[in-house]
Amino acid sequence: MPDEPGQPSGDRPETGEADGLPRGTVVLKPKRARPFFGRHPWVLDSAVLRVDGAPADGAPADGAVVDLVTHDGAFVARGLWNSASRIRVRLYAFDAATRLDAGFFRGRIESAAALRRALGLDDRRGAARLVNSEGDDLSGLIVDRYGDWLAVQVTSLAMSLRLDAICDALEAVVAPRGILLRGAERGLAQLEGLRLADRLVRGSAPTGPIFVEEHGLTFGVDLSEGQKTGFYLDQRENRQAAARLARGRRVLDAFCYSGGFGLACAVRGGARSVLAVDSSAKATALAKANADLNGAANMAVETVDAFEKLGALVAAGERFGMVILDPPKFARSRAAIDDAVRAYHRINRLAVDLLEPGGILVTNSCSGAVSREDFLVMLSGVAQRAGRTIKVLECRGAAADHPVSVSCLESEYLKCVIARVG
Ligand code: SAH
Repeated sequence: MPDEPGQPSGDRPETGEADGLPRGTVVLKPKRARPFFGRHPWVLDSAVLRVDGAPADGAPADGAVVDLVTHDGAFVARGLWNSASRIRVRLYAFDAATRLDAGFFRGRIESAAALRRALGLDDRRGAARLVNSEGDDLSGLIVDRYGDWLAVQVTSLAMSLRLDAICDALEAVVAPRGILLRGAERGLAQLEGLRLADRLVRGSAPTGPIFVEEHGLTFGVDLSEGQKTGFYLDQRENRQAAARLARGRRVLDAFCYSGGFGLACAVRGGARSVLAVDSSAKATALAKANADLNGAANMAVETVDAFEKLGALVAAGERFGMVILDPPKFARSRAAIDDAVRAYHRINRLAVDLLEPGGILVTNSCSGAVSREDFLVMLSGVAQRAGRTIKVLECRGAAADHPVSVSCLESEYLKCVIARVG
């Protein structure tokens, strides 16, 4: 049964949800249509010349279906309008015959689920990202499956207004035991004018942490308390890649959260020992519990600031055979790139100073604003300052259940560089 909608129904705007037909027309400035013929899904305020309501009764309501047209009136695409967001229109269809109704969103969710089946990521004991926003042509919607439960994150107002239809589709396609709504990052929610509280929207909530399998390891995931939607699914394959190189090494897993990298190295990779650190006590409690759950007696966990800990280890003359760095997003905007690159330089320099000759650096950046090239150039600076060689062995991204649309490269954020430090 449909639960509460995303907003109190009293002030719910007319969204055209039922028929999926346009309630307005967004006219582009001259010479601004090219990205959208290339299927870029975001129409920024700076590209918009004018907005016409249709029928002629003023502007469309936020969340409504609109058509995007060139300045001389030619159809470009169909999308969802939000006057409060810098992304004024998110585009979903590039032909005028497609209605953005409940059946349309269900079709997109079915395609997303079919891709995960094709990837072999539909095992109910495991966890996978089922819908990856732009990567699944569903801008503003993220759905993660943890065993029999779904965690839904809505990052656009228009999607929040369609939450009922989306949950209907998810129930029909996946038949979960429950669907939990997770709020967007605070900044994002503000940018979109979103007011969504974390809550159970369908079925039942798990009574405690749930347990999911990843490459033969078991991880406890707390869907109500955890960061993000409970677990960093994007790092699944990168943890395996690190583990493949960990045999016999003393491993440092910095920014460990619930211990994903460290455990893969300790249990699957045959590491000699693992020290996992994170500044959050909640994270290290999860990492300890996961180490116990998987019988990783060679893994120690410490609650400490990673910059301080790595500095202290360097000062004490400690050496490691592998250092893993997976810090939180350092750059939240383009303006913050320089500061972020300096922070990446500092932590990577500390890691390189800790590595024995021939040691392995597994270094990650999830700042979308810092490009792959910026990140590699940062590493070349570290090599120069440290007087060491750094050879890239693998340049990786997020796991395949986080597809990236080539029409929206801004949505590619994760860089995982595995390198040999000489
Ligand atoms: N590697 C993890 C994900 C890491 S997410 C995995 O595979 O699941 C980033 C982590 O960095 C978070 O757990 C956060 O608590 C931690 N963190 C943020 N700032 C930190 C700091 N200064 N020192 C140590 N940990 C920090």
